[in-house]
Amino acid sequence: MVFEKAERLSKLPPYLFAEIDRKKKEVAKKGIDIISLGIGDPDLPTPKHIIERLKKAAEDPKNHKYPDYEGLFEFRKSASDWMKKRFDVSFDPDSEVVSLIGSKEGIAHIPLAFVNPGDYVLVPDPAYPVYNIGTLFAGGISHIMPLKRENNFLPDLKAIPENVLRKTKIMHINYPNNPTSAVADKSFFEEVIKLAKTYKFIVCHDMAYSELFYEEAPMSIFNVEGAREVAIEMHSLSKTYSMTGWRIGFAVGNPSIIEGLGKIKTNVDSGIFQAVQEAGIEALSGDQSCVEEYRKIYKERRDFVVAELSKMGYEVFYPKATFYVWVKTPDNIDSRTFCGKILEETGVVLTPGIGFGEYGEGYFRIALTVNQNRLKEAIERIKGVKF
Ligand SMILES: *Cc1c(COP(=O)(O)O)cnc(C)c1O
Repeated sequence: MVFEKAERLSKLPPYLFAEIDRKKKEVAKKGIDIISLGIGDPDLPTPKHIIERLKKAAEDPKNHKYPDYEGLFEFRKSASDWMKKRFDVSFDPDSEVVSLIGSKEGIAHIPLAFVNPGDYVLVPDPAYPVYNIGTLFAGGISHIMPLKRENNFLPDLKAIPENVLRKTKIMHINYPNNPTSAVADKSFFEEVIKLAKTYKFIVCHDMAYSELFYEEAPMSIFNVEGAREVAIEMHSLSKTYSMTGWRIGFAVGNPSIIEGLGKIKTNVDSGIFQAVQEAGIEALSGDQSCVEEYRKIYKERRDFVVAELSKMGYEVFYPKATFYVWVKTPDNIDSRTFCGKILEETGVVLTPGIGFGEYGEGYFRIALTVNQNRLKEAIERIKGVKF
């Protein structure tokens, strides 16, 4: 039998990467060696001390039980200590921290706790697709906040209509930003908090790339006065410690927001395998030199790619953070045509900006998640393509 899917699935935006996936297979079949600069998944391994801790913790029978959804107290304490050390802000591990099965899980679930059908959620575009999808699954309406080059890829808060603001429950923001690599300054966060207080909505700040910076260390939204009244911040161990497959992150913030998210979680999941949480404790409270070392490697890659693309005449948005480079397509070629041609002729996979939303059109994204030699090879191949 073939079953008809629920309406919420038919509301999902088309999966634009299907076309890329298909082309990639075709190209690979021809024997062309594929270099994937598509998905933002670190090539650098999880640091050894974290793996060792997992091994030990996996042997301990006390870790074989159902964990609590909110996470081990020791994990939440490590998260809170890490926030204190990194941003000089304090959170009570019991009421202001919750563990997440990756920050994606928290972002997907938070609308279920706060959004009623017909409510608005403010969603940036281009963006990580989960902000919009989580909203749709909760029956909410995504109001798009375009991220434009002329605003340094920050949303124009004054452009959000009053009638939308009055029915808004959550605003999603993400800095350092995927896919644009933009960073936000204090005045932006101040404006966001002011608006959220006026219209009584939640600010959900996704800080998955907090440690992948090459200039100044980005600030937390909690470095801004008043944030505790309205904000939650999602953190992830995925990119910082090369732990994407481990599925571990955490949220910190306003206790009533944490409680609401926790209520959803306790009813749909049973937390993170405790051995993984122990490894997470090791990551957050152990030797941090791996973070510095990885940052240095990404910085070398960034410098190389930015220099090469600029020499070739591409308009590159200089990435102060993240492991992405956001680039304008030449001669305003649409992003799917551009990335399709590059893939077919060179085997290099790039992500078309349209895959992140309509305002991503006219751009493509390069993920710096292959080694320097492969990056060199990819650049050489791209140089050979004529438009
Ligand atoms: C990678 C990424 C995440 C992290 O997801 P996890 O579920 O923690 O692995 C969250 N937000 C953005 C924008 C990302 O790019």
